Amino acid sequence: MKVERFFRVATGDGSSSSWARQDGESLRLLDRAPWATPSELDEALPLEGARLLAPVRPSKIIGIGRNYAAHAAERGQAVPKEPLVFLKPPSALIGPGDEIRIPAWVGRVDHEAELGIVIGREASRLPDPDTALEHVFGATCVNDVTARELQKKDVQFTRAKGFDTFCPVGPCIATGLDLGRLRVLGRVGAEQRQQGSTEQLIFDVANLIWSVSRVMTLLPGDIISTGTPSGVGPLRPGDVAEVEVEGVGTLANPVVAG
Ligand code: MG
Repeated sequence: MKVERFFRVATGDGSSSSWARQDGESLRLLDRAPWATPSELDEALPLEGARLLAPVRPSKIIGIGRNYAAHAAERGQAVPKEPLVFLKPPSALIGPGDEIRIPAWVGRVDHEAELGIVIGREASRLPDPDTALEHVFGATCVNDVTARELQKKDVQFTRAKGFDTFCPVGPCIATGLDLGRLRVLGRVGAEQRQQGSTEQLIFDVANLIWSVSRVMTLLPGDIISTGTPSGVGPLRPGDVAEVEVEGVGTLANPVVAG
């Protein structure tokens, strides 16, 4: 299957935006979201220098906890028997190059490099995982930034996972990838901290979509972030946090205090 990459870019004076399909070194603008059977406009922009935005505006962002055995082990916790589902608020979303802001009072804040699945077709109460992948539009990179001390303190993950700027997504959505065997890497500056493969997922993408759809309707544009490999660690002001998913590209975000 051919791999295609879709972006969202700022247009005009920067106050409007458009979806776009990568065509070599150019971005061909689209008249609607890429999962909604768009038409290509006459306009194109060079990819280099384009102001990239988060490639999707989800109604909800679903996180999956402890979906890699080595990460559960490094947190000193058991592997869950069913997918451990939580929500990150859409207000936490930022795009490529945007700043992750760490308030002074929150204690340790970690990076979590993850494969994000973007839904392309509504999924509600699927009977089984068999047809779940038909509801996928594509793959992206997510950094599931987490305030670790608050996560330990609270019953819910809402505060720990929900700060403004704690959900970098991008740089694009790639279609046509084999979601079952993608490398997922996390770096801070030049230091590689996380390296995993979606082959190691305890609950695979089809199972996650089925499981979540039994609870809540997944809408086009929604994101399921599939969990992080081992190697999570703290972010500090001045760092640049990077998430790379094979076939998608690299999402980089500077970290600041505030
Ligand atoms: Mg996570």
